[in-house]
Amino acid sequence: MANVKVAVRVRPLSKRENAEEGRIIVEVDNKMAKVRNIKVDNRLDGPWDSREKIVAFSFDYCYWSVDPEDPKYASQEVVFQDLGTSVLSGAFKGYNICLFAYGQTGSGKTYTMMGTPASIGLTPRICEGLFSREDDYSEQPASCRVEVSFLEIYNERVRDLLKQSDHKKPYTLRVREHPETGPYVQGLSQHLVTDYKQVVGLLEEGIAKRITAATHIHDASSRSHAIFTIHYTQAILENNLPSEIASKINLVDLAGSERADPSYCKDRITEGANINKSLVTLGIVISTLAQNSQMFSSCQSINSITSEGDSSPVGSHTTGSVSGTRRQAYIPYRDSILTWLLKDSLGGNSKTIMVATISPASSSYNETMSTLRYASNAKNIINKPRVNEDANV
Ligand code: ADP
Repeated sequence: MANVKVAVRVRPLSKRENAEEGRIIVEVDNKMAKVRNIKVDNRLDGPWDSREKIVAFSFDYCYWSVDPEDPKYASQEVVFQDLGTSVLSGAFKGYNICLFAYGQTGSGKTYTMMGTPASIGLTPRICEGLFSREDDYSEQPASCRVEVSFLEIYNERVRDLLKQSDHKKPYTLRVREHPETGPYVQGLSQHLVTDYKQVVGLLEEGIAKRITAATHIHDASSRSHAIFTIHYTQAILENNLPSEIASKINLVDLAGSERADPSYCKDRITEGANINKSLVTLGIVISTLAQNSQMFSSCQSINSITSEGDSSPVGSHTTGSVSGTRRQAYIPYRDSILTWLLKDSLGGNSKTIMVATISPASSSYNETMSTLRYASNAKNIINKPRVNEDANV
């Protein structure tokens, strides 16, 4: 059992926020992110002295990437050293891993996941780590295979970012579910890669395809979800018998979180501002899983005192039970393409990390608070990762 790990990253003030003399209302203190409540405190220049005016959230990691001159500044390397290396060590051991970035458009999701040519992000660094494996595992694999795929979900449709597609109908792929290995995209191209340069080439190809289809610079990342998947398979010898360890790494750059907010979408009349079903469903899946996990831990503590429990069901749909006493609420994975594809990463066989990205500016107060609440909820999800080993292949 492993809780979803949650990190928060605060980006620098943008040009626009600087021009508006944007005030910084976020502070990071070790593993706490604190937000000054501007609705209560209009005296923004004052010191952070009154507890009532500050809302504090605690996370597994908090990164202050606002000012490179600041001693606590978290660079791309710092973020990689925590999150990227934990993705790599999990993959080397044979776990499925999912790392996803959540936050409003312009808060730094793509910067964190992909980076810029001058400052590369988590995805290329993780790929580099796979090919320059220098860990201290005694059982180095006899050989390993790396295959990648890259897809985009837009309006509940899937397109392959690494394959030439029909210009008029690029989003044609379907999601299916295998009884043992779970959901997958039928017909998605898989690319065998043997070095870092090849992966970077494919990443660039996919990103370029995503951007050309968008009407505005931010459209691609604000409206659609991108999933870069690495299948990492290691051939090992166990007791002199051949065996395989397979890990699937999902690296996900989600659509802007404002796309899940009905009031944001209602205010805009542009065609692209429709509410994003996958993001809304992701929110429902996360909060239901969080509720179930809390119920599970309270059930465990009840059972550690007495074997009796409350039998009242939670939610109208029920599947299974915990300790035979409490019912778990139904998780609507199949209500959206994103949650269906990430089913294993949310409450299943995966180690999962969420990076919540936020702006430090007062103008983003509402979005920042909503992202931090969402991220707090995700911390409660309990996954059941296991090593994917296939003996005697
Ligand atoms: P999103 O993917 O959430 O829409 P971006 O990653 O595109 O947002 O970030 C918006 C802008 O802010 C980009 O110009 C990006 O380079 C910059 N930016 C975001 N995070 C950081 C950071 N930690 N350090 C420096 N610049 C950043």
